[in-house]
Amino acid sequence: MPLLEFTDKGIFCPQGNFYIDPWENVDYAVITHAHADHARKGMKYYLAHHWSIPILYLRLGKINAQGVEYGETIYRNGVRVTLFPAGHIPGSSQVLVEYKGERWVVSGDYKLENDEICIPFEPVKCHVFVTESTFGLPIYQWKPQQVIFEEINRWWQYNRANGKTSILLGYALGKAQRLLKNLNPAFGRIGVHGSVWNVIENSPFIKYEYPIEKVSPSQPKGYWDGAMIVAPPSADGSRWLKKFQPYQTAFVSGWMSIRGIRRRKATDAGFALSDHADWNGLLRAIRATEAQEIYVTHGYAHVLGRYLQSLGLKASAVKTEFEGESLHILPNEETENVEMS
Ligand SMILES: [Zn+2]
Ligand SMILES: [Zn+2]
Repeated sequence: MPLLEFTDKGIFCPQGNFYIDPWENVDYAVITHAHADHARKGMKYYLAHHWSIPILYLRLGKINAQGVEYGETIYRNGVRVTLFPAGHIPGSSQVLVEYKGERWVVSGDYKLENDEICIPFEPVKCHVFVTESTFGLPIYQWKPQQVIFEEINRWWQYNRANGKTSILLGYALGKAQRLLKNLNPAFGRIGVHGSVWNVIENSPFIKYEYPIEKVSPSQPKGYWDGAMIVAPPSADGSRWLKKFQPYQTAFVSGWMSIRGIRRRKATDAGFALSDHADWNGLLRAIRATEAQEIYVTHGYAHVLGRYLQSLGLKASAVKTEFEGESLHILPNEETENVEMS
């Protein structure tokens, strides 16, 4: 029997009797990271990197959870399980599963660029690699993050000069903290939505060099004039935004690299910054594992799978219920348009 199987409940290790990021209720779940499509309710026991544990409590309530360090090994019925940094969001992990000399790695979501809020992605040599493919098309080529942060700060400065507050919309877990680390505090106050604040409070290992405040009703009128507000995408078009008028909004997502998608958004601007690997990043990560067999999950699994086959690798697309960045950022219309499999 293979070391890992793709079942209708999730990625399963029959020898170790555990699942990785399952979507149905199971007894023992190894969680790659705390995003909603990877960490779901209803598992009897959760194992994850210790940075993910407070976020899992925040999101899932009372659960049985154990936190481990990167490189720390847990045994399940003779199967070794070790987490390695995935560089996607704080606490995000690749899961190395070893048994009788055979090594499989499940990447979860990952990126190679060091964002300075995560421990950077670390390639792990293995026989079989399970990769995501959220941005697994050659058209996805990210600019260096510094370029995007400069664009964002310029946009803020411009809005401020025009008497407007800037509203930056990005996923509350990961993206928001990455943005908050790279703003220019010389331009004014920095405020966050409550859901972003909750993540900050539960991620004390991220240090910010300037004050970040939670937006609250007690602040006087005009307090946020010309400020930068970081909020989740769901805040777009909501009543919560009213108090910041006049304001400009911008989405921050890898999907914003596609002009057609950017144009159809209701926001005033879009910045292409992603916490997933781009096409070259995926290929570099896959090569670095030296794996000869690749399973490709959520995203453009068929496209990336066929490309890997053309390189002589054994590759196949597998169906999972992970949703990629589309769920985090875009309304359904775009989610459907970017699904290709
Ligand atoms: Zn994720
Ligand atoms: Zn994902």
